[in-house]
Amino acid sequence: MIAPHGGTLVDRILSGDALREARQRAEELPKLVVADEIAGDARNLARGVFSPLDGFATSAQFDGIVNEERLPDGTIYPIPIFLTVDDAESVSEGDEVVLCALSAPDVPVALMTASEVFEWDKGAAAASVFGTDDTDHPGVAGYHSRGDYIVGGPVDLLDNDRGPFAEVNLYPVETRAVFEERGWRTVCAFQTRNVPHAGHEDLQKTVLGLVDGLMIQPIIGKKKPGDFRDDVIIAAYDALIGSYFHPGRVFLNILPTEMRYAGPKEAIMHGIMRKNYGCTHIIIGRDHAGVGNYYGEEEAIEKFEAMADELEIQPITIRGDFWYCCTCGRVASNRTCPHEGDVCLSFSGTQIRQMIVDGVPPRPEIMRTEVFEVIRQFDNPFVD
Ligand SMILES: [Zn+2]
Repeated sequence: MIAPHGGTLVDRILSGDALREARQRAEELPKLVVADEIAGDARNLARGVFSPLDGFATSAQFDGIVNEERLPDGTIYPIPIFLTVDDAESVSEGDEVVLCALSAPDVPVALMTASEVFEWDKGAAAASVFGTDDTDHPGVAGYHSRGDYIVGGPVDLLDNDRGPFAEVNLYPVETRAVFEERGWRTVCAFQTRNVPHAGHEDLQKTVLGLVDGLMIQPIIGKKKPGDFRDDVIIAAYDALIGSYFHPGRVFLNILPTEMRYAGPKEAIMHGIMRKNYGCTHIIIGRDHAGVGNYYGEEEAIEKFEAMADELEIQPITIRGDFWYCCTCGRVASNRTCPHEGDVCLSFSGTQIRQMIVDGVPPRPEIMRTEVFEVIRQFDNPFVD
């Protein structure tokens, strides 16, 4: 089994007596209400998804990650996980606070010891993490909208609710046990935020010729308007896997976190998280985790390949522009197929979306009928 990133799988989920004692203490502690995504980060920190991080970034961690893509001990880490407050008075160094999510402010999510409170340069951090200072970039805009002070320190989870998709929300320690039990020595992660089309299926099955198992892992959480809803993505994959995959070779498990649209750096982050879940490989494709035209098409692939030895999780890099070629009679790409024109059927997300809106089934060469029908059962499969 591949070692977790940095060597230690973090587990700060409180249970038993420690949980009872912490819940009691929490009643007396000041409450810090944070955005739902930050509460989600706290859960992921405690559950080991962001290992070796066991808390929100301290100043040394923040500076190291932002400026060098490394933790103070030299471990690669490309994107900071941090908590901010609007004014320095809300938390003092050394305080213990209770984190609550904005959408459920009465539920204590985690305890946090504020080991540090410090100012940060939003513009400089955003430019370094996202490679641009353009405030039209959603990640850059997000940094500018955050508080002026960062609060760093370890978290302990009080509320270990698995959320709305509990049956497909296993934590890293649990997916590792599943892979072990199935005897998978090599496991490839497939990162997605979309419903599957035939090009995805072809790629996933090609990879199953290279590794023992495939973990399809949709990112679940805050999305942009027009994106597919989380429940739609899960239902669509259930339909595909149930009918067309060898059940002993594929595992569907969500990753509840937000897309940060940091392109190449986020590709590395996606690799680190999947390594923590026990994956030995991850598929990295064109413009992975990109948005707009901020990153070169193969920038994420090149960055991952350059860091792969140190990261240990290996990228399976997919170059090319894919379509279904009626002449070749298979999924093809500009690297494999000499044909062009009408015989090449596009997997364009925009076109597939439009067909779903219009109720016109795509050809099965583009999307499985079962998948299309499941999506059509939802009144509105898209995020408003
Ligand atoms: Zn062809």
